[in-house]
Amino acid sequence: MNYQSINPNDGKLLKSFEHLSSAQLEKALANAESCFQTWKHTSYAERAAILAKAAALMHAHVDDFAKLATLEMGKRIDEARGEVKFSADILAYYAKNAQAFLAPTQLHPKVGEAHMESSPIGVLFCVEPWNFPYYQLARVAGPQLMAGNVLVVKHAGCVPQCAIAFEKLLIDAGAPVGAYTNLLISHAQSEHVIDDPRIKGVALTGSVAAGRSIAARAGQNLKKSSMELGGSDAFIVLEDADLEKTIPWAVWGRMYNGGQTCCAAKRFIVLDSIADKFLAKFQAALQALKPGDPMDEKTTHGPLSTEAALVQLLKQVDSAVAHGARLLMGGKRMERPGAFMETTILADIKPDNPAFRDEFFGPVVSFFRVKDEAAAIALANDSDFGLGGSVWTQDVARGKRVAGAVDTGMMFVNNIDWSDAELPFGGIKYSGYGRELGNMGIQEFVNKKLVRTGHFDAPA
Ligand code: NAP
Repeated sequence: MNYQSINPNDGKLLKSFEHLSSAQLEKALANAESCFQTWKHTSYAERAAILAKAAALMHAHVDDFAKLATLEMGKRIDEARGEVKFSADILAYYAKNAQAFLAPTQLHPKVGEAHMESSPIGVLFCVEPWNFPYYQLARVAGPQLMAGNVLVVKHAGCVPQCAIAFEKLLIDAGAPVGAYTNLLISHAQSEHVIDDPRIKGVALTGSVAAGRSIAARAGQNLKKSSMELGGSDAFIVLEDADLEKTIPWAVWGRMYNGGQTCCAAKRFIVLDSIADKFLAKFQAALQALKPGDPMDEKTTHGPLSTEAALVQLLKQVDSAVAHGARLLMGGKRMERPGAFMETTILADIKPDNPAFRDEFFGPVVSFFRVKDEAAAIALANDSDFGLGGSVWTQDVARGKRVAGAVDTGMMFVNNIDWSDAELPFGGIKYSGYGRELGNMGIQEFVNKKLVRTGHFDAPA
């Protein structure tokens, strides 16, 4: 299918785009390779000037970028503005810090002297999802352009206008032709790109299915890859949690971005002694959300990104119920135009129910009662995913101890403020490998070269 921009609030087609021809794709790859030959020799200061300009342009045009995201994938407008500002901050963060992150580091061998240098590796192919149509791009463009790599990027089929807007942003900021190229290409063309010898690394954010396919292709080509995949994060509520503070985070954690966040709180694991109280308050807070046009500031519950996403989610809920889960609220599409799903709570999900292992990418809560802390940890770890998770307690030391026992890439105690330019983001198990953001994010696709110096005698 070609790239289609459809407003999920009313199902209207806004624009569609053809895939690139083979000749256009070849030109894009040739431009990227040729750009790399000069870009890798530019100074950090030159690269930083372009990235900082892009950040400033984004800040100056927050509303334009935000409206486009809201139109194409239904993100509520205030969340879209937040994403645009955060994306700009990520670009600015790497403009400021990349040189220090990649500075040579001294090693201390017994004999002679040694240091590590970091150098760019070439053209990277990035495949990105629609759920954060700018932030996902900033997460790769900021660090990798500052590291001296160049990018060719395949964005998701439903957000072509956001993809084009981000490419234009970098060109407007002064990036040379080939430094960042948006590719409107099919999955088959993506395989061709991964196979191309000019591509030196592959970064994907997306589903497990996409991860399997793209990581396998990169592996066949012995190319480094990073995989930021799905999640089914636990939200562990211990008996001493402060519910006044916990409930708003529970709502935000499940409902932010229409529930379509990789590290959203998806499995609510609550100690029995506090479960009834938690559930009553959580349910009331979810019921109070106001569905509506995501462009309207008063809306607190927007549509899902596409009709297909809604159909898939409804199918998962039906299957969960058919396999014995109990529906405590919601479960249906809303009676209104657009891809709107009722806020839904599923309980009594047993391990043999497919819902026990599935990722629900939308406003669906999986609710579990457990008898104690140990059972909460065991259930949290009984997942194929390992992205994030959170624990809620007034005893911070206990919270940290529980966080330490959960097998994920990220844990949060009394908050789920997931992402910060400074903090590494990523998971383990089916949630993937590698990290984006922070110092770790810029180290993923650089050559760590050892240089050892010293006139010492060869062994006899
Ligand atoms: P998806 O179907 O895997 O799509 C993500 C991207 O991969 C899109 O650009 C898609 O292109 C592309 N793609 C999928 N299969 C491909 C293939 N065989 N070859 C080339 N490209 C391929 O993911 P989604 O379901 O739309 O997005 C949500 C998923 O992403 C969730 O599982 C979510 O948890 C995960 N996610 C993870 C993170 C993280 O940082 N860990 C962040 C955000 C989202 P098309 O649109 O053209 O198919």
